[in-house]
Amino acid sequence: MADFTTAKKWLKNANTVIITAGNGMAQSEGLDILSEERFDDQFGKIAAKYDVHTIGDALDKKFATWSEQWAFWSELVNEYSLQYEPSEVMLALKNLIRDKKYFIATSTFAHFFENAGFNENRIFNAFGDWTKMQCSSGINHGQKDDREVVERFLQAIKNDNVTEDLVPKCEDCNSPMELHMPLNANFFPDTDANARFRWFLTGAEDKNVVILELGVDETSPQLLDPMVKLVEQFPNWHYIAADLADEDMPVDLEKRALGFDSNVHDVVLGLTK
Ligand SMILES: [Zn+2]
Repeated sequence: MADFTTAKKWLKNANTVIITAGNGMAQSEGLDILSEERFDDQFGKIAAKYDVHTIGDALDKKFATWSEQWAFWSELVNEYSLQYEPSEVMLALKNLIRDKKYFIATSTFAHFFENAGFNENRIFNAFGDWTKMQCSSGINHGQKDDREVVERFLQAIKNDNVTEDLVPKCEDCNSPMELHMPLNANFFPDTDANARFRWFLTGAEDKNVVILELGVDETSPQLLDPMVKLVEQFPNWHYIAADLADEDMPVDLEKRALGFDSNVHDVVLGLTK
């Protein structure tokens, strides 16, 4: 049975909170990449042409032209990132850690935490961020903000005037740019943010730390096992998992880990009540 009293006590005593957030968090913010519910209505032409029926499948698909790809990406980035409004859960989470030192490591890629007002220097987007773009050559030529590109495509879609010359090009090698996500072998994680995260972890070794796992599943294993291992290593650390059950936790963590076997929504709101 979920033990909110203990979890709240750990959080109250913690000066540092590390949030790991995955698919379940993205769903709570409105983005369900596995859902077929609205895809065909919203993207009928893409669904018919490429036989894809979820955002996840469509993101994995190489379209016939770069402009078609960018037109589609732009609608997604617009809906889920530019037009984003933080959910009740996100606002509760912000409130929950308002007095803490924190770092967020997330496999969500829609810029939710940045848009919700969390410190950009305290976020590591392990699976990239689709408001940024990368070179498609396979060489790491860095990341650039793509939100102006998105606006340009939205305007062109409105005017029924999407052309290839709108496709952004790499300043180093002139290859087309693509979303900064692990859609193919061209993905390089943000090394600066990764380094900041590592420094943060090192600096917190002897602090009272709570790791709060929110909606992380097997699609982002790097946000699960390595974090549990850190808690095993440091006696002042605790682990609270929204999704995992107590029996999924290592036995030696029994007294310092809580698994709610629930979902992001119920756990975050339960912790803030
Ligand atoms: Zn390049």
